[in-house]
Amino acid sequence: MRERSKIIFHRGMQRSSEWLEPLKKIADQYALITDQTVYALFGPAMKKKLEECFKVFVISIAPGEESKTREQKATIEDQLFKFGLGRDGAIIAMGGGVICDLVGFVAATYCRGVPFLSIPTTLLAQVDACIGGKVGVNTEQGKNLIGAFYPAQLTLIDVDFLSTLPRSELLNGRAEILKYGVIDSPALLQMEVNESLIKSCCEIKLRIVEEDPHERGVRRILNFGHTIGHACEAASGYFFSHGAAVALGMVGEAYLSHQLGFLKKEELGIIKEIIRDAGFSLALPAPADQIMKFMQRDKKAQKQQPHFVLLERIGKAHAFEGSYCTPISSHLIKEALLWLDSQ
Ligand code: ADP
Ligand code: ZN
Repeated sequence: MRERSKIIFHRGMQRSSEWLEPLKKIADQYALITDQTVYALFGPAMKKKLEECFKVFVISIAPGEESKTREQKATIEDQLFKFGLGRDGAIIAMGGGVICDLVGFVAATYCRGVPFLSIPTTLLAQVDACIGGKVGVNTEQGKNLIGAFYPAQLTLIDVDFLSTLPRSELLNGRAEILKYGVIDSPALLQMEVNESLIKSCCEIKLRIVEEDPHERGVRRILNFGHTIGHACEAASGYFFSHGAAVALGMVGEAYLSHQLGFLKKEELGIIKEIIRDAGFSLALPAPADQIMKFMQRDKKAQKQQPHFVLLERIGKAHAFEGSYCTPISSHLIKEALLWLDSQ
């Protein structure tokens, strides 16, 4: 059994050396893998810090989802061999969700697995992507279709990294924060984005993931808003951001929860207003029929039937006898999409 993943919150990592202590117990060589944008912002300072205690190799790749490929994984592996990173070495992912997913997958298979650490630098990665161990790459057939469960042994979260994030990236993370509020902890819906809110989100995700690491039951509630959301992202040719898609998806899936008799109308109204007030639009990014097609193709669709997490109330998803999801007729899904677009 692997060790329990640990999250340490630490402000000012670029200037302090305290966070290096726990790393000493893990390895004495580190590969710091990041993207060029993140490297330009924080790379030299972080490398210098690590070099106070360790031998450090840096790999910096092109930013963006296009880098999350099998080819990029192989290129990184070849570089690691060239550096001579051995079994006594460890890998650090520093960046957003793309870097955490890709680098985590590299760590999972390099020499049959080396210790993996993450330093998430986007709000989305801090509250979601870096926790829970889902790592992987995209293929032509879809996103994250090749991958593994390989949780980071240690995640270091510094909210100071967020100061350089553009508004659109903050909004991206905001959607997942609202999701935790809607499925688990309504109090989060009123909070400002700060370290304490990020901590609460990490605690919720860790608790759920530890209960069901391989997503056979309760972990599925983290997919609330994502069945419609993923289909919207794909139907827009990924022009629509993950956050915008999930925000819209949550309102659509709240509508389904109401239509099927689980969620009260007032609560559907509250969810809609919260999402709107946060700055998201409910207009569909593609025609409803096109979104429907992508939903049937989703990797989580069973027998072409998309499954949904439904809410009983704000803060609680329906259990469906422990499966936490249910298939819904195409007719009703389409009605939900058209309703969204008319809001
Ligand atoms: P996410 O899934 O977290 O949105 P990405 O890894 O695609 O992730 O990151 C989004 C973009 O933000 C990338 O271009 C990345 O280089 C950039 N980025 C990551 N962290 C920061 C940061 N702290 N400040 C500014 N830009 C950042
Ligand atoms: Zn998500």
